[in-house]
Amino acid sequence: MEHLNKERVLAYIADSLSEEEHETIEQHLYSCESCMNTYLENIEFSTPDYVISESFTDKTVASIESLYSMVPKNPTVNSNTKNKTFVHYIVAASLTLILFMSGVFQNALSITDGPKIEKDTPFTQKIMEQTSGFVDRWLEEGRK
Ligand SMILES: [Zn+2]
Repeated sequence: MEHLNKERVLAYIADSLSEEEHETIEQHLYSCESCMNTYLENIEFSTPDYVISESFTDKTVASIESLYSMVPKNPTVNSNTKNKTFVHYIVAASLTLILFMSGVFQNALSITDGPKIEKDTPFTQKIMEQTSGFVDRWLEEGRK
């Protein structure tokens, strides 16, 4: 699939597309960092009451849940406390991603020369690194 032009991204943000085209663009945004950047750049100019499409948020959460499912289940860990901690983390991570998707972090990044940061370490990669770091520590805790 070729890259999305700005008009299509704007139409996507304005939610004025057919469901099918909306899906297509959404899928492309997931797989294409360049178009995701276009999306994030333009979302700032969208209406203030803009709300992330529900399916987009659901998929963000779903991707975190699939990460969670990759963690091997440890039958010796039955502690509610650990589960709660993990749930809290999932919620925090979801919020981080959702805020990121909605362009909040894009504003923060543009203050500190966003494109350069983007080039050196994609923000999503940082989140993934932090997430796996947490999972490692969590598993470490479980072995004790
Ligand atoms: Zn693209």
